[in-house]
Amino acid sequence: MKLVIFLLLAVFGIPSSAQSKPAADLIITHGNVWTGDDARPKAEAVAVLGDRIVAVGSNAEVLLWRGPETKMIDAGGKLLVPGFNDSHVHFIEGGRQLDSVQLNDATSTDEFVRRIGEQAKKMPKGEWILGGDWDETKWTPPDLPTHQMIDPVTPDNPVLISRYDGHSVLANSLALQLAGITAKTPDPPGGTIVRDAEGNPTGDLKDAAEGLADKVVPPLSHDQRMRAAKRALEHAASLGVTSVQHMVADYEDIAVYAELLQDGELTTRIYAAPLITGVDDQAKIGIRHAFGGPYLRIGAVKGFADGSLGSRTAYFFEPFSDEPNNHGLLSDEMQPLSLMRDRMMKADAAGIQICTHAIGDQAISMVLDLYTDVVKAHRGAERRFRIEHAQHMAEKDFARFAQLDVIASVQPYHAIDDSRWAEARIGHDRASRTYAFRTFLNHGVHLAFGTDWDVAPLNPLLGIYAAVTRATLDGKNPNGWFPEQKLTAAEAVHAYTMGSAYAEFQEKEKGSITPGKFADMVLLSEDIFAIDPVKIRDVKVLKTIIGGKVVWDPNRKVSYSTAY
Ligand SMILES: [Zn+2]
Repeated sequence: MKLVIFLLLAVFGIPSSAQSKPAADLIITHGNVWTGDDARPKAEAVAVLGDRIVAVGSNAEVLLWRGPETKMIDAGGKLLVPGFNDSHVHFIEGGRQLDSVQLNDATSTDEFVRRIGEQAKKMPKGEWILGGDWDETKWTPPDLPTHQMIDPVTPDNPVLISRYDGHSVLANSLALQLAGITAKTPDPPGGTIVRDAEGNPTGDLKDAAEGLADKVVPPLSHDQRMRAAKRALEHAASLGVTSVQHMVADYEDIAVYAELLQDGELTTRIYAAPLITGVDDQAKIGIRHAFGGPYLRIGAVKGFADGSLGSRTAYFFEPFSDEPNNHGLLSDEMQPLSLMRDRMMKADAAGIQICTHAIGDQAISMVLDLYTDVVKAHRGAERRFRIEHAQHMAEKDFARFAQLDVIASVQPYHAIDDSRWAEARIGHDRASRTYAFRTFLNHGVHLAFGTDWDVAPLNPLLGIYAAVTRATLDGKNPNGWFPEQKLTAAEAVHAYTMGSAYAEFQEKEKGSITPGKFADMVLLSEDIFAIDPVKIRDVKVLKTIIGGKVVWDPNRKVSYSTAY
């Protein structure tokens, strides 16, 4: 940090005796600054000292912080917003996905099979083919894929590829064999082995049944994890994502982050929530919610109450509209319910934040019941419960959400994706309380935005576009699917910045461009508050700044480092 004597002030006629004041390390001028801070919503310039913002204001006000070594960025009138904070990602899986077989946009089974075959040719014999993110709703008829389809192109590689929502996987014969899954294998609690008319496994394994095959997949090596983390960090920087909240982080993932942090290579701030099944581990250490430093925090756990809408395993009060004998599946963690309650009690008693995946209306209701039990037992403490996804709400539960101050950690991109087929599955009435962002806000519920990457793209501008337009991906609802639930661009950005910061107890440290907060900012190619909302999805990131360091600039080679 450099100290500069501000003799120059006298030259500009500002009444001042020579005063000493630290000079900024970075100043951004001529910006269209959307601060997200009600105290000063708009500004032209920002000064950064070390990794914090020290001044926000007009060009003239902020230039008072300029010293001989201050780096200057002229924003050229472009929009500067607080860095995006993705409240729900699977960061390592996301990084892996960037290098694995891409099946999500396969629009026919031929294409699906061809891509898997190509991947198999690239890989050594015996190595597992994973990832995929296939989506059978994109081909006709929209039937689940089977092992018979892919066996001929994968004779030497076990295959275990995920449906894009992660709630269903397809195994080939080799993988079924290695996992010992046969016609005689019973469905595990909370899971389904999909079978043909003769009772033979088709290769599709839903929810807890995935575990039968997962357990024979060799764990990621440290090198694989490290490679994935670096890919993910680079990807996040390129999209203006300056913070992520990693749900279901493995301990080995956290170890990789710690190593990157030590080497000054962690360019995204990470809050990691391992599975609630391991709650004892964090409770034993005695760490509490959001324990750690600016770049890496732990102290949260992630539980699962049910499955997903796409896999028909989301747990509803009433059956699926198109499957009258099925109203979904509670996860194995909820069977018996006391198992989940005990783990939540343990986490809460230890001061650990609880994040619970719940999608169907009954699953959400049950989690709210459990949260109520926890509050009754422990009272007092500031806990900030979260429900991840909170997709399909029962009318009566919006108010409870607010009363318990539960954070709705939601993913707007899913709203324009699932809405292509959601109504057929759950009917109009339930669909009207689906991705009900406006209703949440009306009830005073804290919204945090994220993507669920690798389930959906990490790009926050797609999420903002989705929340603002609710235009389904198939182009069939250009004016919005349940348009009364649309948010304004400002509300969407708020949920993606302050909302997510609140969800990780960091609203005093980030989420707005405010003096004293971390200098995490993103310069965008267009003013997303002024342009036609349809164009928000095409907006590009011009610069990503984390802790005052430029970690992304498409016009300039930047080294991904936060080391000073
Ligand atoms: Zn997730």
